[in-house]
Amino acid sequence: MLASSKDDENVVRGSSDQVVELRSVSKLYGDAAAVSSISLNARRGELLCLLGPSGCGKTTTLRMVAGFVEPSSGSVYINNIDMTHQPPYRRDTGMVFQSYALFPHMTVAQNIAFGLENLRWPRERRTKRVAEMLKLIELPHLADRLPRQLSGGQQQRIALARALAMGPAVLLLDEPFSNLDAQLRVRMREELQEVVRSVNVTTLFVTHDQEEALAMSDRIVVMNAGKVEQIGTPGEIYETPATPFVAKFIGWCSLLKGVVSAEGVFTSAAGLRIKADWSPGPGTVVIRPEHVKLSTGGSAGQAHQARVLHSHYSGGATRVVLDINGEQLTMQERFPFGHHPKPGDLLGITINTNDIRLISANEGQS
Ligand code: ATP
Repeated sequence: MLASSKDDENVVRGSSDQVVELRSVSKLYGDAAAVSSISLNARRGELLCLLGPSGCGKTTTLRMVAGFVEPSSGSVYINNIDMTHQPPYRRDTGMVFQSYALFPHMTVAQNIAFGLENLRWPRERRTKRVAEMLKLIELPHLADRLPRQLSGGQQQRIALARALAMGPAVLLLDEPFSNLDAQLRVRMREELQEVVRSVNVTTLFVTHDQEEALAMSDRIVVMNAGKVEQIGTPGEIYETPATPFVAKFIGWCSLLKGVVSAEGVFTSAAGLRIKADWSPGPGTVVIRPEHVKLSTGGSAGQAHQARVLHSHYSGGATRVVLDINGEQLTMQERFPFGHHPKPGDLLGITINTNDIRLISANEGQS
């Protein structure tokens, strides 16, 4: 750990469990706000993911934690020390960049040892640490290779080892898998999770890939246009989205705007009626493919006639876009071979209202 994080000056009383804390942090470029008054925290050993569409301010937020971008207002705390105006090398963070940024003329071992040399670690201790890191990422046989002699996945792991070598309080990862093909991304995702868990380092991870965020994170911060829309576990974000934006961004869904009557019947703008246990008033109903099922005699839920608009076969299941009373809903089903629905077919479906979420108008912006 770096000396700076042990300084007593600037220590604030806070939860010892909070390793990173952003308090109302904003970043303006001219008049444009890249990040607007974001507050969040990452707990010890937690893998926290910053998720959102391109340009929503994820990288700017990460760089403000690293110290590469200075906030226009607000404060950044690391281990309860105000780091807002401290340079990157005093923050006790390790960063893995999108491009990995390995030094091309240095071997793998020299790349990993780089930060340790700057900290003037004695040679013997450095060598031992590099060996530990190479073992952790399971590449001890590549110590003498140059970066250009490595695959993308291997370079990614070396960049991770370099960031972890100094034992930082916080590991920062900016879309670390963006240069890898789809299969390797999934494998590297699992490996990264294993490595960061084994060293129990608090990790902030930037991605725009919702599947990656759901699979890897302890908690997800969903961002949109420089603001936080919701912070929660993957389950909370998926099952109880706080806003229509979060519902739409995480997984497939149909959003139906409408009003719940005093009797608890929701009527959508196009006239689809759904009865559930919701409070009266305007809102948006989030219907995911798993809420829509083919009717069987005894199925629970509310029956409707649906017309098939499109169907997309993907091997294991078929995604079917349906028109129900003028609203478009999507279902995911496995149809028997030779019985795939075609545009224009009529299907009897039920909507299972138990798990459907209504976002009332005063909860989120539609
Ligand atoms: P992506 O997923 O595409 O990397 P992001 O969510 O990480 O996007 P940021 O890179 O944080 O988004 O950028 C947020 C906004 O701030 C964008 O509109 C971007 O154009 C703007 N921005 C970022 N850096 C600068 C800069 N140095 N000068 C001016 N505007 C900037």
